[in-house]
Amino acid sequence: MNRLIKRMPAPCQLNPDAWFPEGATGQVALGQMKSAAAVCNSTCTIRATCLAVAMRAEGTADGKNRHGVFGGLTPTERAKLAERRRQAVARAVEQALAA
Ligand code: SF4
Repeated sequence: MNRLIKRMPAPCQLNPDAWFPEGATGQVALGQMKSAAAVCNSTCTIRATCLAVAMRAEGTADGKNRHGVFGGLTPTERAKLAERRRQAVARAVEQALAA
């Protein structure tokens, strides 16, 4: 996914380390990612596409198996979004089968 993001005309290209704080851990890493996500959400013109690509590429991975900021969301936030989407699909299927 890093190769993909490097081709995008986006703010993260200027300082990729801020979007992928590999040397930092815990609250420090989370703080760096929150700052990067704020840039995504306030200035990036391809945020929706970036998030869609990341969600598709990461599938059903949990927060520990997602890395860096994509589409203005941290790995944990993307994992929660994936779970909400999974639950919405499950509810829709249940409703369709009950109809
Ligand atoms: S949404 Fe964020 S991570 Fe995605 S391309 Fe834009 S600046 Fe980069």
